[in-house]
Amino acid sequence: MSKKLLLKDAHIEGIRYFETYRKQGGYTAAEKALKMTPDEILEEVKTSGLRGRGGAGFPTGMKWSFLAKPEGVPRHLVVNADESEPGTFKDRYLMEFLPHLLIEGMLISSYCLGSNTSYIYIRGEYSWIPDILEEAIEEAKAAGFLGKNILGTGFDLEIYVQRGGGAYICGEETALLESLEGKRGNPRLKPPFPAVKGLWERPTVVNNVESIAAIVPIIDITGAEYAKIGVGRSTGTKLISACGNINKPGVYEIDMTITVEEFIYSDEYCGGIKDGKRLKACIPGGSSVPIVPANLLLRTVNGEPRYMNYESLADGGFATGTMMGSGGFIVLDEDQCIVDHTMTLARFYNHESCGQCTPCREGTGWMYKILKKIEKGEGKMEDIDLLWDIQRKIEGNTICPLGDAAAWPVAAAIRHFRDEFEWHVKNPELSQTQNYGLAHY
Ligand code: SF4
Repeated sequence: MSKKLLLKDAHIEGIRYFETYRKQGGYTAAEKALKMTPDEILEEVKTSGLRGRGGAGFPTGMKWSFLAKPEGVPRHLVVNADESEPGTFKDRYLMEFLPHLLIEGMLISSYCLGSNTSYIYIRGEYSWIPDILEEAIEEAKAAGFLGKNILGTGFDLEIYVQRGGGAYICGEETALLESLEGKRGNPRLKPPFPAVKGLWERPTVVNNVESIAAIVPIIDITGAEYAKIGVGRSTGTKLISACGNINKPGVYEIDMTITVEEFIYSDEYCGGIKDGKRLKACIPGGSSVPIVPANLLLRTVNGEPRYMNYESLADGGFATGTMMGSGGFIVLDEDQCIVDHTMTLARFYNHESCGQCTPCREGTGWMYKILKKIEKGEGKMEDIDLLWDIQRKIEGNTICPLGDAAAWPVAAAIRHFRDEFEWHVKNPELSQTQNYGLAHY
């Protein structure tokens, strides 16, 4: 059984409220942190090996150490709660059931970074959660954990919740900052990076909800103890939101030492494939990471078990170190049509492209049109090669990672399931009525 750090109290009735959270030991990590120096906290975070839980997996301590500290210029912490990646809903769970864990994490992080005004930028569609967060902020303030001169330390902190307008691109950190400043959420060119010029051109750290919540157990048990959980550079615990054709969809906390097979089939987690069907493929880290076929998902190319961690999921040459991505674990059974699935994703990225750069603006729409044609049985063999060509011209040629995110699912689908694309071309009548998966898997 995986160790629980973030969700250990999630089952307790009323944990959403300050009184219950405090009774369970809430805010003791903040009390401890406020007696430490900011540099000591930073060292603990570095020692913990925590990697950003939003998708990129960049070491959090290193990111914090890049924060510029010019004299007299305010700094900010911005929590990225714009969780919009298809298949990902673990931050929603944290904010809905454990809002004080996030507030406590923000207090510790803001103190470490020197931010007196911090923000939570939350996805617009999570319409009921800002009220939960604002209530928690008021409770924390009433108890002296927010506001002026917190616990007599002289440290001041205000936290504001800002609702997004419903654009997926605002999950990209610079688009988020633009939106937070009241502008259209278009990604900025980098450099300068937010650590130097972020919100209102001030040094800013943007971190995911789960990353900031993880600061609480790191301070509580120490960075060294946190680093002992997990394996290699995949330290601590990770929240996974599991969905698709499984028996037990939900949010799970894992310690990254379990195998993918155990995660899918054990009753503790996904409980196996629905209706006893066979596993066909999985997208292990939200829709922006490549789809992985069952044979490569359960075993590495060397036949070793594949583990639910950054290193093992990346092994095999089908991806870089970001396969854990946003923690959205989407499982597809044998009946699922890969072409249909890829088309759905292409439509999503086309719809969400901000339109600033040509390869993304034009390429995502072009890929969607071709995929639609193939799926309807109206495609030609050359269309598959054209698709391959378009995705290659998008990858690496755009301002922000949305272009790559749109290209990778198409590339992986063709690489691993080209026979399905060809089947649609060769069987135009059948492709309108029947999925390749159902008939030919
Ligand atoms: Fe906008 Fe797409 Fe360019 Fe990102 S890659 S800036 S979403 S057009």
